[in-house]
Amino acid sequence: MILTNRRRFLTSTAAGAAALALPRRSQAKMPLGQPQAPYFYRFKLGSAECTVVSDGQLPLGNPANSFVKITKEEIDTELRDNFLPTNNAVLEQNILVVNFGDRVVLFDTGMGTDALFGDSTGKMLKTLQAANIDPKSVDAVVMSHAHIDHCGGLIGADGKRNFPNAQYFIGEADFNYWTDDGTIPANYPARPHFLAQARNNLLPVKDSIHFYKDNEQILPGVTALSAPGHTVSHTIFMIDVGGKQLCYIGDLAHHPVLLLEHPRTQFAYDTDAAQSAESRVRMLTMLASNRIPLLAYHFAWPGIGHVATHNDGFVYFPANPQMETVGEL
Ligand SMILES: [Zn+2]
Repeated sequence: MILTNRRRFLTSTAAGAAALALPRRSQAKMPLGQPQAPYFYRFKLGSAECTVVSDGQLPLGNPANSFVKITKEEIDTELRDNFLPTNNAVLEQNILVVNFGDRVVLFDTGMGTDALFGDSTGKMLKTLQAANIDPKSVDAVVMSHAHIDHCGGLIGADGKRNFPNAQYFIGEADFNYWTDDGTIPANYPARPHFLAQARNNLLPVKDSIHFYKDNEQILPGVTALSAPGHTVSHTIFMIDVGGKQLCYIGDLAHHPVLLLEHPRTQFAYDTDAAQSAESRVRMLTMLASNRIPLLAYHFAWPGIGHVATHNDGFVYFPANPQMETVGEL
């Protein structure tokens, strides 16, 4: 008799506690809709302080429209196996700023005012401000190539230079190709945007451009390495600070799965897709065999990690972010 009562008591108490724990709609514990974390990330490379600032996400839409020489079924399988959405390939835009102490160098500049990929791009100036980086303090703007999402942030909506004290670096072949209506193929995707944005941003700063060459040390600690194919003079950059290296790979690969697992898969925006794949395999093999960390412009935020060879391709290992200190890479 006593046992039965005790059991009844326990049952009713548990039910009462459960009822109390159920929140009522009008009594949320804290407001919903809080803002996301800031879109910049700092790390050290030797004595240099690096900051990745975002220009925002660039949604490509249906991956089958951008990644070619691969079937839709293979795309779906690779994306699903990597827990990525199969209906929209979203690229980040990771802009690297390196403060060498006596010089500030910024690599690529985002979409600027062009809204080809929607309103989630063009955030660079806001993100620089959030990261406490004054555009006037930037001494050099280094561009991997002359595509819309890399040179688009040179000139502001007011027609003035966003980095008024900077010298600019780009390949001469890219400068000529993308500012010339006669060279861009008629069927190039979104051709008018690419032509207009290259002209609007590159022509006004021509007097301040240094056209780099393969293997040229363009600045102390920054060496240009030609990796053509995505564009005619697409280039990546080896950054060396007292023996600590980081390779900024620009658009050597746009996707950490689709262009790495099978690196000869082609990208619709490549001017010479076969040459692009050759450059990708050659440079990623070099980075993998030397265990050199890389920063990829379009990989998942903030785009820092390593590649290793795997089967016939590569696998990307993102670095662990260090959020409590400005940690060493
Ligand atoms: Zn790009």
